[in-house]
Amino acid sequence: MSATTTRPRGRLFFANPGPTNIPDSILKAVAHHSVDFHDADFIALYDECVAGVKRVLQTEQEVLMYTASGHGAWEASLVNLFSPGDRLLIPETGNFSESWARMAEGHGLAVTVLPNEWSRGVDIAALRAALAADTGHTIKGVGIVHNETSTGMVCPIAEVRAALDETGHPALLLTDTISSLGCLDFRMDEWGVDCAVGGSQKGLMLPTGMSFTGVSAKALAAHQSAKLGKHYFNWSVMMNRRHKGFVGTVPTSFFFGLKEALRLLEEEGLAQVFARHHRLGEAVRRCVRHWAGNDGPRLFCGAQGRESDSVTAVLMPEGFDAEAIRRTCMQRFNVSLGGGLARLNGRVFRIGHLGDLNEPMVLGTLAAVEMALAINKVPHGKGGVDAAMEYLAG
Ligand SMILES: *Cc1c(COP(=O)(O)O)cnc(C)c1O
Repeated sequence: MSATTTRPRGRLFFANPGPTNIPDSILKAVAHHSVDFHDADFIALYDECVAGVKRVLQTEQEVLMYTASGHGAWEASLVNLFSPGDRLLIPETGNFSESWARMAEGHGLAVTVLPNEWSRGVDIAALRAALAADTGHTIKGVGIVHNETSTGMVCPIAEVRAALDETGHPALLLTDTISSLGCLDFRMDEWGVDCAVGGSQKGLMLPTGMSFTGVSAKALAAHQSAKLGKHYFNWSVMMNRRHKGFVGTVPTSFFFGLKEALRLLEEEGLAQVFARHHRLGEAVRRCVRHWAGNDGPRLFCGAQGRESDSVTAVLMPEGFDAEAIRRTCMQRFNVSLGGGLARLNGRVFRIGHLGDLNEPMVLGTLAAVEMALAINKVPHGKGGVDAAMEYLAG
């Protein structure tokens, strides 16, 4: 290869866990000329999209949207529900629980992080014990990442709800569904979630830049007395607007794309979308379990039954650099993988298998990784891709 890095020919295989592949029909829909967001036609489109997002969240409560990446919706969930000094319990899951916790501290909340090993995820018994011990109900909110994108692990929200109910704890339940929505089953109302945080560029297959929160009636009541400073993200202001959530110009292009994204999800059927993610996720896991032979790379997630169907974190054997695998995949094969975040940098690479993907796309990525392992002389069990194919053909 020449010194000026020429990109390999052919399609970029994008296997990042966010942003994700944007289907051509969504790209076309987003490329829409500007419209007046007060026009009746746009208001109808907006209402249709909000109704669709509610169906994906499985809620009949409020949805408020923001012109911001997921971080904006995170911020909205905090500043609208709490007052300075309020106690927030955040069970540790990985990089994203840590980032949400740091943000809450930045806003003056008293955050208690319930420590967990990143490879094992949330200890529900410890969470229940922490809630039971809080007899004075000083904990005002519990913030949980549904799908921890840095580790490839899911937290069972129904079990978190049960822990709150069994201890009779009234804390608000906040969940981050940014990398699970449109990929994994998420039931806001059934699971008694008070604030569900979602974003555009993962399972919803849209560009980055729009996010939203599902908000329960209980959360709206708590909002009335929440005293943290807020302006752009103030729900009281937003609730009185025609386009709930948008202060300032509504990002109309996103709505043309969102309508198409919802159409694609509902044409396939949500149950089938979840099943497809499960199949692709399981194929990746079978491949990685195969590589783990010969003391090779293995699944980072060590909690059986909690493996994420949208992203898999792969832990390198001691002494081998995950970034070298990512570089080979990108520079030689035009395959983009996710890197290890925070303390996992260099130790883990991540295969995103969420959004607009099918079997050959996933197999192509796995084959590139298997070749990169060989090129970088990383010990591994050969034949991982065969194991994935065998599963997918079954
Ligand atoms: C991507 C992600 C975020 C951050 O969202 P941005 O859109 O990058 O601000 C937060 N939480 C989880 C679980 C994510 O996967």
